[in-house]
Amino acid sequence: MFTRDKLYVGGEWRKPSTGQILKVISPHTEEVVGKVPSAATEDIDAAVAAARASFDSGMWSRRSPEERIETLRRLEIAYAKRVDELAELITLEMGSPISISRMVHVPMSSMTLSAMLDVAEEYVWDERRTGFSGQEFRIRSEGVGVVAAISPWNTPQFVLMVKLAPALLAGCSIILKPSPESPLDAFVLAEILDEVGLPRGVVSILPGGRDVGQYLVAHPDVDKVAFTGSTEAGRIIGGICGQQLKRVSLELGGKSAAIVLEDADLDNLAMGLKFAGMLNSGQVCAAQTRVLAPRSMYNQVVEALVAMASNLQVGDPSSELTEIGPLVSSRQRDRVQGFIAGGVAEGALLAVGGPGQPASLASGWYVEPTIFANVSNEMTIAREEIFGPVLAVIPYDDEESAIRIANDSQYGLSGTVWTSDIERGYKIAEQVRTGTFGVNQFNTLDFKCPFGGFKSSGLGRELGREGLSSYLEIKSIAPPPAIAG
Ligand code: NAD
Repeated sequence: MFTRDKLYVGGEWRKPSTGQILKVISPHTEEVVGKVPSAATEDIDAAVAAARASFDSGMWSRRSPEERIETLRRLEIAYAKRVDELAELITLEMGSPISISRMVHVPMSSMTLSAMLDVAEEYVWDERRTGFSGQEFRIRSEGVGVVAAISPWNTPQFVLMVKLAPALLAGCSIILKPSPESPLDAFVLAEILDEVGLPRGVVSILPGGRDVGQYLVAHPDVDKVAFTGSTEAGRIIGGICGQQLKRVSLELGGKSAAIVLEDADLDNLAMGLKFAGMLNSGQVCAAQTRVLAPRSMYNQVVEALVAMASNLQVGDPSSELTEIGPLVSSRQRDRVQGFIAGGVAEGALLAVGGPGQPASLASGWYVEPTIFANVSNEMTIAREEIFGPVLAVIPYDDEESAIRIANDSQYGLSGTVWTSDIERGYKIAEQVRTGTFGVNQFNTLDFKCPFGGFKSSGLGRELGREGLSSYLEIKSIAPPPAIAG
């Protein structure tokens, strides 16, 4: 049992203001595996006050970028010592197969830190620019202020680091609010930060539910909100930040299309979609969940995906052999099973899988890997983000209609094309309205390149230079006027 009784507030371990506890339940055994305090509004007030004071004092914000980089290089070393523990906790709290926790969740987090350190080293923090007047201006980048960062349960550690690393490198003070379903790994992150020793007030980590999150977002002393989660919550948060004219970045849901061309290698496609569609038991925002297949080879595409899904090892996430674990909660399992039942009711064909519990697993929040055929892009399973191991195969007639179907979505997070003709693949990439896109590539994310969504998939970009910029304000400093001799 993982237990902690204090919250990390402004760089200190403090007793929580109330006795509220977050009980973490294993999605595999359905038993309580962790008990940690939940933050209340008083804890948020204390964290924001500490963050505000530290930012305004300049003890971190006005240190040179080189000094901040040097401190975060120490974080890189301290982090590397706890990676095994972090992977095990992520598997325990949210049911990700242990191999995915070890090879994806935690490395993604540590590589984000390393990549953002490189970005900060290459960044021009104080540029000299000759203006239209001919005078030399200074264009200075400064931290945006106090940041509220809110993360979901599906990639808990990675999303915290995606916000923490650039915010600290920019000189911001930050309050992280992890999701109540997966708070355990965040306590270890707080222990690592404590060891590194940032100035008082600069970092707080306060897990809690949606009310706590919304209180933090609306807090008048918060300058910027960095949110990752559902589009539904993103709209509410965007509304609050718009009203208060707060800086905001939103990383939201997706319903990405994998466009299969007639010349695609189907073995490569099936292997690619095993990751791009089913990774993390399908709980990935950038998952390629609409597979667009040409009518001429529709059946072959369905067969290749059915073979892939049928061979997936579903079960205990602590087993090294497991490829698909349980979903994070009974609520999420019910939601995904509801979508599957709804797909059948709307007339889609279940090619493999279905709405029931996998026969070999009596307990745990499992869903069978499911492939739907005969799907039209108007069906609910093609329009809504399901967030489980469910793919819908949609037929198309020609390239133009494939691009039209790919773009016929409220979302625009990611997409892929599968073809032997790479130039044709790049031309299609230019026409699909998404923030990332891959040609025969299941992974559309690189830590030094921007990541984010078009349309209802979000606002702004994380990672890379663009990700660092979103934690910076830009100031132009004019020189004194030239004195006429
Ligand atoms: P969620 O929106 O329910 O919750 C996400 C976080 O926001 C949690 O910490 C929650 O407590 C908090 N929250 C919820 N409502 C809030 C509000 N009104 N004000 C402040 N905080 C609030 O999402 P979830 O179910 O935890 O996560 C799954 C969703 O996250 C999916 O839609 C997925 O696509 C999305 N996601 C997006 C990305 C991306 O980079 N685009 C990455 C991972 C997950």
